[in-house]
This record gives sequence, structure tokens and C-alpha cells, in this order.
Amino acid sequence: MFVSFDFFFRVFRVVDLSGGECMAELRVGEQKIRINNIFCVARNFVAHAKEMGSVIADEPVVFIKPNSAVVQPGAPLVLPAWSNDVHHELELVVVIGEGGKNIAKENALNHIAGYGLGLDLTARDVQAVAKKNGAPWTLAKGFDGAAVLTDFVAAQGIDPMQQQFTLHINNELRQSADTRLMVFDVATLIAWISSKFTLQAGDVIYTGTPEGVGSIHLGDVLRLTWSPHIEQEFVVA
Ligand code: ZN
Repeated sequence: MFVSFDFFFRVFRVVDLSGGECMAELRVGEQKIRINNIFCVARNFVAHAKEMGSVIADEPVVFIKPNSAVVQPGAPLVLPAWSNDVHHELELVVVIGEGGKNIAKENALNHIAGYGLGLDLTARDVQAVAKKNGAPWTLAKGFDGAAVLTDFVAAQGIDPMQQQFTLHINNELRQSADTRLMVFDVATLIAWISSKFTLQAGDVIYTGTPEGVGSIHLGDVLRLTWSPHIEQEFVVA
């Protein structure tokens, strides 16, 4: 059977891409960490639960995004063609340094390697249909490009429950977060998640969005600011 050089070229190029460009990693200072599982917490701010017509449960509501959804600093935000309403959700994100099972709340913060900001991009129209049908949120929350991450700062010396950060779109303030208003604090989230799922080094946890979620559009410039640690821009292209 004759197999053309072109065929091999294309096959090897695809292999190279899947092993290279699709690898999701994040930077904590000078250190690079390979991103493993991505956990996300829904409804962790009362005002956001209200704007979505949801109620706060007794336990955290957690869902997962595939790590192929990650958008790293400098990369464009590409909206899926099959949604007409992709929303931004600005969130504090933690990356796990040391994994564990049944991590005690008292010890939970010691498992964190770093903190960053993220956008839990959500195809709100698709999610609304899923909610109505009792179907999973995977498509609405896990599509390519749905997990936007800034660079991270080392966890040492940072109290995650005393932080304020913002999202501006085209220089207009859209979301303003204060972690003191979280329903479940970061230590409680780690203890709860690790009681159900084994946490591993490189796991990332989106800790929930405050109110003010809304649509993003082609050409929008999104600026995530956490003074004095992070200020990074992403463009919808
Ligand atoms: Zn979210």
C-alpha cells in the first residue's frame, strides 16, 4: 500500500500538537505546574445565586471542566459558534501543591501552591437548556476556551479570605469580588472536595463568582485585577 509523505507529515503534525500545544500548565512565580483536574464551585456568593434564581445549598455544588478548556495568559478568548450568550464569571482560583484525601479543614490551606484569577466562561443559553432538562453542564462549562487563567502567585503569606479583585470590560467595571462574602471559605471547599474526590498536585479549583455576570462579545478587552498581585488582559478574538 502506498502511503504518501504528506499523510505522514499530517499525522505527525497532529501528534505533535496534541502532545505540545494542548498541554495545560500555569505559572506560579517562576515555577510551571501541569494542570490536572479542574474543579469549579457554583453558587458560593449569595448575590450571584440570587441573580441566577438559585438558592444556596447546605453543601458546595461542584462541577468539573476538562483541562483542555484552559486559556493561558496571552491567548485569545475564542467563543464557541454554537452559543449566543457566553458569560464571564470572575473567580479566585487555587492550584493544589500537595494532594490528599479527606484533608482536614484546619490543614487545608497548606495544600495550596498558589492563587490566581480565572474566568469560568459559561455558555449561559446552553446551560439554561441543560438546567431545564436536568442534563449535565459539561458542554456549557467545559468547551475549549472555557477555563481562563491568569498567572498565579505563591500561596505563602496570602490569606485567601481577605482578598478583593475586579473584572473590567473595555475599561468598565463589571465584577467586584470580596472573598469575605464567600458562603463556603477556601479551606471548607478543599476539605469538602477532598472528602469526595482525591485531590492531586496540579488540581485547580475555581472558588465561585460574585454577582455581575454578563455576556462577552467579539473585540471585548477583559482586564482581571488583583492588587498588587495580578493585572492581566484577555481579548475576545
Ligand atoms: Zn463559576
